[in-house]
Amino acid sequence: MEQRELAYEGKAKKMFATDDPATMLVEYKNSLTAFNAQKKDSLEGKGELNNRISARLFTFLAEEGIPNHFIKILDDTHQLVRRVRILPVEVVVRNITTGTLCKRLGVPEGVTLERPLVEFYLKDDELGDPLITEDHATLFGWANEEQIAKIKHIATSVNAILGRFFDKKGIILVDFKLEFGIDSAGDLLLADEISPDTCRFWDKETKKKLDKDRFRKDLGDVLGAYREIWSRISGEGI
Ligand code: UDP
Repeated sequence: MEQRELAYEGKAKKMFATDDPATMLVEYKNSLTAFNAQKKDSLEGKGELNNRISARLFTFLAEEGIPNHFIKILDDTHQLVRRVRILPVEVVVRNITTGTLCKRLGVPEGVTLERPLVEFYLKDDELGDPLITEDHATLFGWANEEQIAKIKHIATSVNAILGRFFDKKGIILVDFKLEFGIDSAGDLLLADEISPDTCRFWDKETKKKLDKDRFRKDLGDVLGAYREIWSRISGEGI
């Protein structure tokens, strides 16, 4: 499998074409951004940790019946995935109130929700990823009604599966963001990454934040938190 030209470079990953049009190679970068890239840094080892964490979680989700784009890990910072056309909607599932939900709506922080809250955002950096409704998505053609229904169903299943998984590791899954794509057969697939960059994780006992909030809020030891997530889910260090 030969790596070809850079197809896309995002804030945390590079995507390369391969000699197989059905696959892409993902390189996990060390760069870390927050607040729509207004805050930036680079942390040696972050790419490797997110590559391993994401690979492990995608593998586990596939075993649990959630189809996704992950094929295999290639080395420390690269993984092979199925090529999909990413839909321009980001899906956020929340179990506990925090982050932009509290800022936007003035609701108190740290409240456990009666049931998971599913939100849609338009994937558009220039607009700062605005919150949208299902009607916006379908009317403007960002996703059709069937896709939206499937996405909601998969997102809540992922929440239940990962919530139980992390609970057993002494971690609360507070909220997370998912992206979906369409493959060449027209099937909807979970894609992108699932890592401490895209999820909020709190230690069950101490409530210590073990995710990108350590970077957003200058709490220190960002890499230590990512390492902690990797060691709890794998039983291995890096
Ligand atoms: N999230 C993400 N990418 C985004 C926006 C949010 O991965 O562009 C994740 C974020 O890490 C958190 C959840 O989605 O786990 C909810 O984030 P929130 O809306 O509170 O926004 P943020 O605080 O990330 O700006």
